[in-house]
Amino acid sequence: MREGMSRLQEHLQQICSETSEEAHRREPWREISIRLGGYPLDPGIRENDFCDCSQHAVPVECFAAFSNAYTRLVLRHYTSVWLTKSVNRVVGESKHPPINKVIEDLREFFGFSESGVPKVFQTWLHTALKSRFEILEGKSRSGAFRDRQKLNPLRLLPSQCHSVASCLAQVFRAEFTAQIEGIKKAEIAPADVGEGTGRPRRGRPRDKLVELRRRVIQEIAATGVKGEEYCSALAGRGLETSISWQKNEGCPRSYPEAWRYPKWRKRIQDEKHKNTRSHRIAQRSSSP
Ligand SMILES: [Zn+2]
Repeated sequence: MREGMSRLQEHLQQICSETSEEAHRREPWREISIRLGGYPLDPGIRENDFCDCSQHAVPVECFAAFSNAYTRLVLRHYTSVWLTKSVNRVVGESKHPPINKVIEDLREFFGFSESGVPKVFQTWLHTALKSRFEILEGKSRSGAFRDRQKLNPLRLLPSQCHSVASCLAQVFRAEFTAQIEGIKKAEIAPADVGEGTGRPRRGRPRDKLVELRRRVIQEIAATGVKGEEYCSALAGRGLETSISWQKNEGCPRSYPEAWRYPKWRKRIQDEKHKNTRSHRIAQRSSSP
């Protein structure tokens, strides 16, 4: 542990190390496919069998840099646990030190004031994927990547981690910002908290999430795939149907599964249309 850490920072450090070690133990680099329904003995694992979270605090889009679906599954679960536990710690802690001290601790621990991608997120990913790095380094020493024409996975992996870390930093920052706003409001008007648990409502980086979804939908739509193929492509990028469809109307989580129902088929098409409309207009007006 770093010297001169506050109590909150020590707790955050512990949560950070524990979750990255836990992720590492689940061997996130393994090539295991994700089963989208079907029969119980089909190859691959079902997402629901991996963990029973009803929701993950970190959006799946953050892990798009990794083509391995199992990598995305492990990293998403454990970074979500990391975020949720840290938030709970901060919310629990906020009763004691003044809010400005909490903000200062968060800025320092997560490196939100650093320019570029804060180190803590990269360190977390490097720990979770350390065996993958070791395997690749071993291969590299025995000359496996000498062919300069071919993609060197040892160079690819850090850049994948960098892109994921950059997204994580934004998600964490947005989540903590929402929490701090909640704490501040509760401090100003404690009577208004009233109903429920008395805790500030959990906010989510809504805009960021919507934007990431839109981008994936646009990219896949632009390849010209349609119908079932389009759904499989979305699932291949780790995208799930909208949370509000799932929660309010019982829509299946997986796009290919939802596509089997006429109701959801229509909605998936509408969603695709809605998300590519502005894109099409922009393309039309930019071309002479
Ligand atoms: Zn989970």
